[in-house]
Amino acid sequence: MLTDNLKDVQSRILAACRRSGRDPEEVTLIAVSKTKPASMIEEIYAQGVRDFGENRPQEIRDKSGILPDDIRWHMIGQLQTNKVKYVVPRAALIHSVDSVHLGEAIEKEAAKLGLTVPVLAEVNIAGEESKSGVRPDETEALVRALAALPHLRVEGLMTIAPFVENGEENRGCFREMKELSVDIKAKNIDNVTMCRLSMGMTCDFETAVEEGATLVRVGTAIFGSRNY
Ligand SMILES: *Cc1c(COP(=O)(O)O)cnc(C)c1O
Repeated sequence: MLTDNLKDVQSRILAACRRSGRDPEEVTLIAVSKTKPASMIEEIYAQGVRDFGENRPQEIRDKSGILPDDIRWHMIGQLQTNKVKYVVPRAALIHSVDSVHLGEAIEKEAAKLGLTVPVLAEVNIAGEESKSGVRPDETEALVRALAALPHLRVEGLMTIAPFVENGEENRGCFREMKELSVDIKAKNIDNVTMCRLSMGMTCDFETAVEEGATLVRVGTAIFGSRNY
């Protein structure tokens, strides 16, 4: 059943690429496995997926300890500075860096371990009270401050768009994110690649792909609904 769900999501991503003239190679599906057991991750892993998303530091620590080493763990949830130590040694990419303060905590841990940590700057594109992330007009300043930290590498932007019934409703948000990313890339800031754009979830990943997402984070459509 999970395999059928996965295949459905993958084919919808392909179709969105085709509609928008994008190369499917540019889009990576992250299977968001938060709250789900290792056995379900193994089922999706067996289909060739290597990118998994989690939002709790301890879950990344625990799951990475028992699942294959070639999994790329994506930290997508709010990160407290005292939990950074669980994530830095294990995450392939930290999507949710929304302050210089958090960036500095990651820097400190990464320096200790002699690692360079790829990060994304999180943007609150719709200005929702409940969401983390900086305002669009604060994004360049955050990117510049993170880029100055030698053990971080700023690879792009991430957003959690509003929860919607129809993904089409978020097209404007995704378009703004893409523009923001292009504008910042054009500044050629040292230590900033801006090659990644993390946006799109179960409710809106096809629209996100059409508007330029390079990473889509899909949980429910693959693993089913979550019981918290
Ligand atoms: C849970 C979560 C997702 C996946 O959400 P679904 O609606 O289940 O696809 C994506 N991104 C973030 C940041 C999340 O916390």
